[in-house]
Amino acid sequence: MESSSAATVSAGPSPGPTPADLLRRLRARGAADPVTHVERVPARPGVPAPWPSWAPPELRAAFARRGVVAPWQHQAQAATLAYEGEHVVVATGTASGKSLAYQLPALATLLADPRATVLYLAPTKALAADQLRAVAALELEGVRPACYDGDTPRTEREWIRRHSRFVLTNPDMLHHGVLPGHAQWSGFLRRLAYVVIDECHTYRGVFGSHVAHVLRRLRRQCARFGSTPVFVLASATSGDPSTAAGRLTGLPVTAVTEDASPRGGVTFALWEPPLLPPDSGPSAPVPPQSTGDHDDLQQVRRSALRETADLLADTVAEGVRTLAFVRSRKGAEVVAANARRALDDAVPGLGDRVAAYRGGYLREERRELERALLHGDLLGLASTNALELGVDLVGLDAVLICGYPGTRASLWQQAGRAGRSGQEALAVLVARDDPLDTYLVHHPEAIFGAPVEATVLDPANPYVLAPQLACAAFEAPLTPADLSLFGDGAKEAVDQLVAAGALRQRPTGWYWRHRERPEVDLRGEGGAPVCVVESSTGRLLGTVDGGSSHFLLHSGAVYLHQGVSYVVDDLDLVDGCALVHAEEPDWSTHARDVTDLSVVSVRSYVDAGPVGMFLGEVDVTSQVVSYQRRRIATGEVIDTRPLDLPTRELRTVAVWFTLSPQSLTLAGVQPADVPGALHAAEHAAIGLLPLMATCDRWDIGGLSTAVHPDTEAPTVFVYDGHPGGAGFAERAYGTASAWLRATRDAIAECGCESGCPSCVQSPKCGNGNNPLSKPDAIRVLDVVLANLPE
Ligand SMILES: [Zn+2]
Ligand SMILES: [Zn+2]
Repeated sequence: MESSSAATVSAGPSPGPTPADLLRRLRARGAADPVTHVERVPARPGVPAPWPSWAPPELRAAFARRGVVAPWQHQAQAATLAYEGEHVVVATGTASGKSLAYQLPALATLLADPRATVLYLAPTKALAADQLRAVAALELEGVRPACYDGDTPRTEREWIRRHSRFVLTNPDMLHHGVLPGHAQWSGFLRRLAYVVIDECHTYRGVFGSHVAHVLRRLRRQCARFGSTPVFVLASATSGDPSTAAGRLTGLPVTAVTEDASPRGGVTFALWEPPLLPPDSGPSAPVPPQSTGDHDDLQQVRRSALRETADLLADTVAEGVRTLAFVRSRKGAEVVAANARRALDDAVPGLGDRVAAYRGGYLREERRELERALLHGDLLGLASTNALELGVDLVGLDAVLICGYPGTRASLWQQAGRAGRSGQEALAVLVARDDPLDTYLVHHPEAIFGAPVEATVLDPANPYVLAPQLACAAFEAPLTPADLSLFGDGAKEAVDQLVAAGALRQRPTGWYWRHRERPEVDLRGEGGAPVCVVESSTGRLLGTVDGGSSHFLLHSGAVYLHQGVSYVVDDLDLVDGCALVHAEEPDWSTHARDVTDLSVVSVRSYVDAGPVGMFLGEVDVTSQVVSYQRRRIATGEVIDTRPLDLPTRELRTVAVWFTLSPQSLTLAGVQPADVPGALHAAEHAAIGLLPLMATCDRWDIGGLSTAVHPDTEAPTVFVYDGHPGGAGFAERAYGTASAWLRATRDAIAECGCESGCPSCVQSPKCGNGNNPLSKPDAIRVLDVVLANLPE
């Protein structure tokens, strides 16, 4: 890096270069321009609306005392819909003031009807506590807001049930505490006017499917007590929030998506690290304990961590206060260390202005770091997402985002740290070598246009439905009328519960047969969770569901818990326990499995001539067989080590497509290249699915074969990695042409010669990324897209 501008660093915040100037200097550094797109997100003035006429003066006055002079238009719109009795979801950007949209109708109703009650659900206790503070600060008479969660002292619980009219809790407490104890809550539930579901996009996948049924159980109890509460949901921006909220609640929900809050201007650059010259990259050494297959990911692009470290050094040298978001704590330390070294090489001592931030700091330490950064003593900070959770740090001049954080909501949350009032800021997304990152830096419309990524869940999952029906039956016998509330599969699930001896059928309905409550974990999926225990202290760090444990907790695995790194000493599947010790090696581990799959039934299909697209149930047998160790700083493969773990069986939902062999020959794919073509298409398709649905690689798996016994044709399968499915394959089927179009473009637009981790290679491939054919994968997808209706 160049050090010419280091002398301009000042002690305090300085005006510094404009974002455009700064970006020009950053991109002029190398030979090739790494910037694929620059988006100027203009400053937007807010659009205020008058207070709705129904909002009582004392409520307006209370908000005014808290500095809210008038609502923004989307707040007023959502609030009025809810006040008029419509179920509504407000899906707008970070910090757009979604809470006013539900506080306004809920509190107005509490003031108008001295008996009415409100139930507020948050995904975390911390968020519920924040909301409690906000509502309490309004000092409204007779509302008596209170948190009711696992930490609430027993002595206070009865008072809350009887006297609080604004109860803040979480889905787990609703499931374990409120609903089973509904008799004690009858007074509260009878008068329930609103149910508020905050951050509802976090209820996705299997967990979301469980929460969907907890909400149906809540609605059932309300109906028994004679109340029909209005649901108000708040979501991050996403594709089709109305459908997602409808699935979650089982009710028709109107979406409000037009964000009328003000925001500062941002210059947002998409940055693709350059390809390495052919022979210069760190070539993977021959691993001493390799399993012997051709399993080394070829590294052809400069790593996102190195690129981010250089950018951080350069912005700091320009005197620009910069925050770099890195996905792991170790990664954040690598970025900070490299940036410090580069700065010290240029101007000795300058490196001291850069630090790494990680979770686990004491409150005072965090405040000190914030203070140093805001005053300019510190200019650069590399951080994990811990910052998102605990620290109020906004108004930076530049934000570097090392790798797409997985969802648009997180991306904007991170980018939103940039920009002081009235000043433009710079945000840079540095692509990692991953198909989704590659696609995004070449398709800015997927980031800056209308969102397509949807929150998916599948309440019809029988592995979720049956245990939830058992819970419902424990709370009150199920009647035929109840079954429609729980969806199409409910009757079948109830029959199975009867056959299994859990329920007894009587003329009046289905009864829970046992004295004890059914034990159902909202985050579990049937199998017992594995406990993660620190060997030296016996401390329980957390649990991992049985399905993921083979991948994440095998012996030798590096396991991250709240940003802290542990290494697994032993995974005991009999006791359901993994022993770990704290250690931060400079490598990460990547487990790999081999898979077999058979089709059980077809739920839906599209017959498109030589191409078929299917959705259905499948049985997957998989075994985690080995893991790779990869150097964190460079991504270089150190070695591959074998594992001895049992096979696992999974009945789940898959999407798959078939092609006729003739169509492949016509498209120029030689028969010998068909396996590599399908395999490459499968990897990229899995990598791109998070564009359509909020999931990550661990939520989905795949299999491809030149001829599958059940389809008798070349086939690519992509399946949900959770028993019974979680909605991901279904979403893929529903958006098949858009999903596979994006997959095709991601492969075609990657500048590598014959396939790399940015396009068709996968870090969790069970076949060691062999065979793979990048050009033939494009041909395969072209055949599919040419035949498949839009
Ligand atoms: Zn590539
Ligand atoms: Zn593979």
